[in-house]
Amino acid sequence: AKDSGRNCGLVYSDKWDNSARERLKLQHELFRAIRNREFVLHYQPQYRINSGRMVGVEALVRWEHPERGLVQPKEFIPLAEDSGMIVQLGDWVLEEACRQNKAWQDSGLPAIPVSVNLSLRQFMHQNLPGKVAAVLKGTGLPARYLDLEITESVAMDTADVSRHLSELARLGVGISVDDFGTGYSSFLYLRKFPIDRLKIDRSFVRDIMHDPGNAEIVAAIIAMAHNLNLQVIAEGVETEDQVRFLKRHRCDEMQGFFRSPPVPGDKIAEMLGKEASG
Ligand code: C2E
Ligand code: CA
Ligand code: CA
Ligand code: CA
Repeated sequence: AKDSGRNCGLVYSDKWDNSARERLKLQHELFRAIRNREFVLHYQPQYRINSGRMVGVEALVRWEHPERGLVQPKEFIPLAEDSGMIVQLGDWVLEEACRQNKAWQDSGLPAIPVSVNLSLRQFMHQNLPGKVAAVLKGTGLPARYLDLEITESVAMDTADVSRHLSELARLGVGISVDDFGTGYSSFLYLRKFPIDRLKIDRSFVRDIMHDPGNAEIVAAIIAMAHNLNLQVIAEGVETEDQVRFLKRHRCDEMQGFFRSPPVPGDKIAEMLGKEASG
């Protein structure tokens, strides 16, 4: 009866009903989770390709759900964005990442920047630069040790974006464009805004060894970035061949499973300790 129109409608509406209920339930749980602080940050190291040294970490949020265990961001970030809860969650992430980074520095570990993901909604929040300034002041983290990752959809040309980016740049925090190459098609904003770094999206990096088109794109992004005086980091680097390709094309930094997946904060402290002694 799969192909009967009436049944299709029924199945469809059942499904919709279920998933709407699921979503509502998840939304309530998310709301509670924010209140109860059920989130934790993992950190993925970023490496200089030439020296192989760890030069930064990206903070990635996970939900420690009381029954479901560790929940990955793809299962709750979209809902947090749709419901507006991303603003509160994002505030927590920003503060926690800065606090943790300052704690590493205070324990004598090498100082490196922490990158924090900002969703469009969070970025557009009226008082974002004020919030960032307050968190830096509150945690004592110098601005140059914070990097903010925005996507191309954020970098679209509107007065607010321009104002927020200049205010953030004036504070001295770094600005990276995340998932570069997947979004907005005009690159004008790269010249207009105080951007420091491009993060080449994983989808291009994944196929550089097999797809000559993607290899060309990656090489072109690196060359363009350097012409604009921007740093470039490749995301999702999983193999030695990819590292060799990136090195040959003078990519600055890399992040990916080849060196390390995202790990808990105490593991980062251990890795930084080894960097310092090695
Ligand atoms: P993203 O910002 O592009 O983060 C990189 C994602 O790629 C992470 O997934 C990371 O675990 C994964 N990854 C890193 N290296 C490799 C690799 O070599 N191979 C493969 N296959 N994957 C790799 P994760 O942690 O599941 O995060 C997914 C997305 O959720 C992030 O993508 C980001 O868009 C969002 N997200 C995570 N934390 C936050 C947050 O605090 N705030 C906001 N707004 N979004 C967040
Ligand atoms: Ca990111
Ligand atoms: Ca800057
Ligand atoms: Ca990314």
